[in-house]
Amino acid sequence: MDCTQYKSHYAAFSKLPLPREVSDSSEWSDWMNHFHECGSCFDWTLGQRIAARGCDPNDFACVHIGNQVTTPCPDHPDPADCPDILISYFARFDEYSIAVRDGGTSAVAIRYCPWCGVKLPESKRSRWFDELTALGYTDFYGDDIPAQFWTDAWYKNAK
Ligand SMILES: [Zn+2]
Ligand SMILES: [Zn+2]
Ligand SMILES: [Zn+2]
Repeated sequence: MDCTQYKSHYAAFSKLPLPREVSDSSEWSDWMNHFHECGSCFDWTLGQRIAARGCDPNDFACVHIGNQVTTPCPDHPDPADCPDILISYFARFDEYSIAVRDGGTSAVAIRYCPWCGVKLPESKRSRWFDELTALGYTDFYGDDIPAQFWTDAWYKNAK
């Protein structure tokens, strides 16, 4: 199976649940082997998944990061609790991290994609503290912090 064939089978072969006659076919196992062996089709597939979730793959540094942070899990409303989602994104700091599964909220920030090595956006964590300090805040986790600082609005809307 080549890349063109892989892509042309994608619509039929990625729709779950797979009919028995598909999952028993040698064509399907060839297709799955191609998925695991071909880096470019693997990445292409992640892009398809991101788009199917209503997100734009171009909004992310790469499809690996995009796939991680757009993965929905019905069992874990907080993605940091989900063992299937390895990378968390903190919109507030524009920061990607690997969650530390110790039951708490700690995470190790990453600067490059673990799969392809692409550079991720620079964390805005220290800028977040600097700007709040400049605005006169000292209790950063107090309720009186402007609402835009709890999301990415504080830097996206900044002129
Ligand atoms: Zn391929
Ligand atoms: Zn989960
Ligand atoms: Zn990547």
